[in-house]
Amino acid sequence: MSGRKLIVGGNWKCNGTLDQVKAIVDHLNEAHVPCPNHIEVVIAPPFCFLPVLRNTLRSDFHLAAQNCWTGKGGAFTGEISAEMLTNLNVSWVILGHSERRTLCSESDEMVAEKVAYALSQGLKVILCCGETLEQREKNETNAVVARQIKAVADKVQSWGNLVIAYEPVWAIGTGKVATPQQAQETHAAIRTWLSQNVSESVAQQIRIQYGGSVSATNCKELGSQPDIDGFLVGGASLKPEFVDILNARI
Ligand code: PEP
Repeated sequence: MSGRKLIVGGNWKCNGTLDQVKAIVDHLNEAHVPCPNHIEVVIAPPFCFLPVLRNTLRSDFHLAAQNCWTGKGGAFTGEISAEMLTNLNVSWVILGHSERRTLCSESDEMVAEKVAYALSQGLKVILCCGETLEQREKNETNAVVARQIKAVADKVQSWGNLVIAYEPVWAIGTGKVATPQQAQETHAAIRTWLSQNVSESVAQQIRIQYGGSVSATNCKELGSQPDIDGFLVGGASLKPEFVDILNARI
């Protein structure tokens, strides 16, 4: 046993209407989940639904935003600051998701700036990293992930409020899940990198989620790998099967 508590995030991405939000929240509120003793649950709806969830979601589940700005708020049209999230009692933020890196051109440095600022404001951060299919086929997976994490290591001293989500880009939203062995290998490589470049205690204590087409069918085997400490779930977090994923280790 690693002693690291399982952490599962539901990333709703840019989905949902008020009626759908209500239906998902009702389902989650009624679900039996061994929370908070055996699992931490973090739900990341679109920004506009955060206050709705704040008022209706069970209090043993945490809330996350899917992004925030690199620094203090101001003249940044369309952005949301870390201060606004803490003001709404949102305790987590997902940063560096591959959709933002690719579609919004967020560089490793920009993601690292966001992570450092969010942590400085007391937010907890799920930092996403992962390689494309082309990079995996060129055997660059470990180097890509190390580069993405190094950018953060260059700006951050304290790792206690950070969780890493390893999300191979080719597995996100595609139905092509990494095999438990592929995921375990990369998670172990991340711990080795952290142990060599940050510290052994950070390497052992940090929780590393796997993300990429996680479902009720594949979560048990993925979750039984020694270096997989939970999941970041996209599509399936909008469906009733999310509760089965939360109970993957039961
Ligand atoms: C994600 O958006 O982080 C994700 C892993 O999506 P999906 O589960 O749909 O692959």
